[in-house]
Amino acid sequence: MRRDLFDEEHDLFRETVREFMAREVVPHHAQWEKDGIVPREVWKKAGELGMFGFSVPEEYGGSGISDFRYNTVIVEEIIRVGATGLGFGLHNDIMAPYLVDLTNDEQKQRWLPGFASGELITAIGMTEPGAGSDLQGIRTTAVREGDHYVVNGQKTFITNGINSDLVVVVVKTDPSAGARGTSLVMVERGMEGFTRGRNLEKVGMHAQDTAELFFENVRVPVANLLGDEEGQGFFQLMNNLPQERLSIAVAAVAAAETVLEETIEYCRNRTAFGRNIGKFQNTRFVLAELATEVDIARHYLDKCVRALNAGELTAVDAAKAKWWTTELQNKVVDRCVQLHGGYGYMLEYPVAKAWLDSRVQTIYGGTTEIMKEIIGRSFDF
Ligand SMILES: Cc1cc2nc3c(=O)[nH]c(=O)nc-3n(C[C@H](O)[C@H](O)[C@H](O)COP(=O)(O)OP(=O)(O)OC[C@H]3O[C@@H](n4cnc5c(N)ncnc54)[C@H](O)[C@@H]3O)c2cc1C
Repeated sequence: MRRDLFDEEHDLFRETVREFMAREVVPHHAQWEKDGIVPREVWKKAGELGMFGFSVPEEYGGSGISDFRYNTVIVEEIIRVGATGLGFGLHNDIMAPYLVDLTNDEQKQRWLPGFASGELITAIGMTEPGAGSDLQGIRTTAVREGDHYVVNGQKTFITNGINSDLVVVVVKTDPSAGARGTSLVMVERGMEGFTRGRNLEKVGMHAQDTAELFFENVRVPVANLLGDEEGQGFFQLMNNLPQERLSIAVAAVAAAETVLEETIEYCRNRTAFGRNIGKFQNTRFVLAELATEVDIARHYLDKCVRALNAGELTAVDAAKAKWWTTELQNKVVDRCVQLHGGYGYMLEYPVAKAWLDSRVQTIYGGTTEIMKEIIGRSFDF
C-alpha cells in the first residue's frame, strides 16, 4: 500500500538527513560502538543542518514548526543505517516538549538556542535503581532552601547520560504528597555535586552513552523548576510520555522494515539444496507473515503520527503503538536471524546487530506490561 504520510518538503528533508548519515555517521559508527559514545561534534554538525528543535520558535534558533513528521524522518533514517548510538530521538522527540512547552521566557532564552544548535545535549532522569515502572516510588529529593533546591539522589539507565549538558530530573519536592509531590528540575553540567557514574555496558546499542547520574547536595536555582509551581511533575510527565512512546514505535517499525528488506535480499541470494532459500515454502510463509504484520503496523503508526500532529494522540493509542510495534520488531528480527542461518549470528551482518539493538525496545519508555496496564485501565472495569 502506498504510504501517504509525507509531503514533498519531508522527502527533501529526508534526502538531507540521508546524506548526512552517509557522510558523518555511517563511516564512524563502528568506532563509536567500540568507544561506547558518540562524539559531541556530530551533534553540532547535525544542528547546523537544522536537525534539532523543529518546534523551537525561530527567535530561539529553531524552525518554529510543530510537525512530528520531521522527527519521524530523522528516526527512520537513523534506524535505516543502524546508527543506534545517536541519541537524537531522545533530544528531539522526547525532550523538546519539556523545553518548548514547559519553560518560561527566561528559561527559553537560556536553553533553546543551544538545544537547537546541538551544542546543548539533553537527557531525562526518571529511573532510579529502586524505581523504574513505578515512577511514584522515586527517592531523589529537592528540598527548598531560599532561592535554591538542594537535590540529593541517584538516577540510572540515563540515555545521553555522559554527553548531556542539561538534564530534566524527576524529584520529590514533597515526599509525603504522592504524585502531587513530584516536580521536574533542570540540572546543568558543572553544578557542584552533580556527577556521572558508569557509562553502562549494554547488550546492544553500544555507541549510546547510557549512564548513572548522582546528585549530592546539588544547589539548583528555583529558576530551574519546570512549570509555574512545584508538584506538577507527574502530570507533566504523563502529558509527554505519549510522544516518547510514539518515537520508540517509529524506530520499531523502521527497524522491522529495514531488517525485513535485508532478509528478503539475503534469501534471494543464499542457496541450499540447489535452490535459493527463498524458494522454500517455509521461508516464503515466514516472510509473508512478517511483511503483513509490518504493513499493518506501518499504517496504524502513521495514523498515530497524524493524530499527534493534530493534538489528538491519546495515552492509550500511544501505548498500543508502543507495545505492539516493539514486540513485532523483536519477532521480526528474531525470525530474520533464523532465516540467515549461522550468518545471522555474526555481527558483520546487520541483522545480528539489529537483534542486539532491538531487545531493549519493549523495556524502556514503559515496558510492554505497563503499556497493557494503561490500555487495560481504559476499560474502566
Ligand atoms: C538502554 C536503556 C535506556 C534507558 N533510558 C532511560 C532514560 O533516558 N531515562 C530514564 O529515566 N530511564 C531510562 N531507562 C529506564 C527504563 O525506562 C526502565 O528500565 C523501564 O521503565 C523499566 O523499569 P525497571 O528497569 O525499573 O524495571 P521494573 O519496573 O523493575 O520492571 C521489572 C519487570 O516487572 C514488570 N512490572 C513492573 N510493574 C508492573 C506492573 N504493574 N504490572 C505488570 N508488570 C510489571 C515490568 O514490566 C518488567 O517486566 C532506560 C533503560 C534502558 C535499558
